Amino acid sequence: MTQQTSLVDRFGRRVDYIRISVTDRCDLRCVYCMSEDVRFVPRSQLLTLEEIVRIGAAFVALGVRKIRITGGEPLTRKNVIQVFEQLGRIDQLRELTLTTNGTQLPHYAGALRSAGVKRINISIDSLQPTRFRAITRNGDITKTLAGIDAAIAAGFEPIKLNAVILKNRNHDEVLDLVGFALANGLDISFIEEMPLGIIGEHDRADAYYSSDRILSDLRERYEMIPTTETTGGPSRYYRIAGQQTRVGFISPHSHNFCDQCNRVRLTAEGRLLLCLGQEHSVDLRRVVRANPTDDHALHDAIIAAMQIKPKGHDFDLEAQPVIFRHMNTTGG
Ligand code: SAM
Ligand code: SF4
Repeated sequence: MTQQTSLVDRFGRRVDYIRISVTDRCDLRCVYCMSEDVRFVPRSQLLTLEEIVRIGAAFVALGVRKIRITGGEPLTRKNVIQVFEQLGRIDQLRELTLTTNGTQLPHYAGALRSAGVKRINISIDSLQPTRFRAITRNGDITKTLAGIDAAIAAGFEPIKLNAVILKNRNHDEVLDLVGFALANGLDISFIEEMPLGIIGEHDRADAYYSSDRILSDLRERYEMIPTTETTGGPSRYYRIAGQQTRVGFISPHSHNFCDQCNRVRLTAEGRLLLCLGQEHSVDLRRVVRANPTDDHALHDAIIAAMQIKPKGHDFDLEAQPVIFRHMNTTGG
């Protein structure tokens, strides 16, 4: 069975979105994302760029219309622009996007636009250089800010900032971050930290700062108007009266979004993850390597995988993590 035009799981959810991690490596070490002594996957175990494109194209043939390239830091993978260029040429693909920490954007923003990337997400959790360095364990904020400038100059529309908010770490910056988004004509989403992998650095339950608390902090200065707008992901959006900027909330703990889930993830090793917070997966690297010239088996494996997509995550900040894979491996 091939060329089916839609992927639907056991719960009737249509999967039309895949996030593809092109590497688990990164030039930063964000405290919520990975442990300090992180060990990366040997390069020999990664999908090749050609295999990534082949799997992406197979998903599009089966009805997926949105691909987000992520990681790790996707722009640190050598020759990654090829992936954007080749996926960007697939007619039926409606949206090709990227999540990045921004540090490499001064080099790549123009090439990404030329490859057909229109929207882009850039992660920045603090505007304060010392704090930014502490949260990223080694980051230089001037590089991420230069990346944001490069993205604006290249004409990405919209550009969305992502900020993971941690209590007593950066929760007092939500107004400043929104002010920065407003001043630069950007959207922004605030993310509740998810318990993926052991990070050692802080207690995730202690660091929990809910989307509702952020919203109430923002309401002290802004009139926040709820909207039903969606960008095809898990963010719930608000508008600020009189402004273009949208403020989103990704709230896995306080507003579970699993019943609307329309996405799956591909790790850099070619493991198709059916849920961010569960281990149900299919090894697509094995399938593409066993069938180098024929996509039938790949299509069949993807269609069959929909049957094991779980109902949702079971995140519990108070419990020991049950998912040992970190976000840089998962492909956030
Ligand atoms: N390196 C790129 C970046 O930082 O944007 C792309 C990969 S990163 C894993 C994707 C997103 O996941 C980022 O916005 C990051 O802040 C977020 N993230 C990482 N670990 C997280 C966690 N444990 N909980 C919630 N969000 C997390
Ligand atoms: Fe790197 Fe992104 Fe993880 Fe930060 S969140 S360590 S930038 S992959």
